[in-house]
Amino acid sequence: MNIAELFKQDKTVFSFEVFPPKKESGIETVYETLGQLTDLKPDFISVTYGAGGSGVANASTTDLCSHIKNRLGVETIAHLTCLYNTRESVDEILEQLKSQGVENILALRGDANPDFAIKDDFHYASELTEYILSKNMGFHVSGACYPEVHQEADSMRTDIMNLKKKIDAGADHLISQLFFDNNAYYDFIEKVRIAGIDVPIEAGIMPVTNKKQIERMVSMCGASIPAKLSKVLQRFGDNPEAMRDAGISYAINQIIELVSNGIEGVHIYTMNDPYVARKITEGVKSIVNA
Ligand code: FAD
Repeated sequence: MNIAELFKQDKTVFSFEVFPPKKESGIETVYETLGQLTDLKPDFISVTYGAGGSGVANASTTDLCSHIKNRLGVETIAHLTCLYNTRESVDEILEQLKSQGVENILALRGDANPDFAIKDDFHYASELTEYILSKNMGFHVSGACYPEVHQEADSMRTDIMNLKKKIDAGADHLISQLFFDNNAYYDFIEKVRIAGIDVPIEAGIMPVTNKKQIERMVSMCGASIPAKLSKVLQRFGDNPEAMRDAGISYAINQIIELVSNGIEGVHIYTMNDPYVARKITEGVKSIVNA
């Protein structure tokens, strides 16, 4: 099923993201997590793709998507990055995904890694999008977007113009980078709609359950920390249990406000933590279905 079709339902789309385990852990380690996430009845579960040299077996993205779709009966999106792929290697991945019945791909550029040589076939996610769709293999393509501007873009305006290229190449659904300031998201959506981008967009929500983890994420993606979250981090950052509970509550409040303001979908970066995903789902279930 095309993920974009899910947005025709009379409810807010609610999805999860998981990542494949490190090579040494074995793929089975994530099966139990997926089983627990499936019990929460998300509209779909997406699986990230390890960029070059991340230590993640990329084959496991396809394996996990196959498990989610064929064993658990949940719709799925396979992430796919292009900086370290050639046309030939993308062809291979597309064949694998097709053979497993996976229909949706989140086409991404990926990030440069100084330890690995970038291939020259694709430079931007829009090029990968165009390539996948040119193969006419029945895939639907989603893309990433950045409510607080992609770190390499010189302005919001340029970044949105570049985002439009992804849509013009055929992406029909977007998932946002994580953010903690809902006002930044509303401003972004307004600008994106003015730019003529009319595909469904999901808000990326990352529960802040660990101070160190969030400091790392924020330095990587540049999300701003509103004063009320900063106070939570200061007050509970050194108390793991209190921090986890406060982070779950912050995410729930963020989602309630977003849904009240009519956003189309919520994508939870689960960090493969079914406990946190369960608590958030329980907190917002009736709200996203209202
Ligand atoms: P692009 O859309 O190609 O944009 C990258 C930069 O180039 C932007 O600054 C943009 O403004 C600019 N740009 C785009 N097109 C053009 C053009 N034609 N000319 C000039 N400039 C242009 N990374 C992983 O490694 N694995 C994952 O599974 C993964 N999943 C992700 C999921 C989501 C929802 C998000 C938000 C990010 C994810 N990432 C993942 C991280 C992502 O790969 C990085 O954020 C990367 O830096 C940008 O990827 P992109 O697809 O958005 O790039």
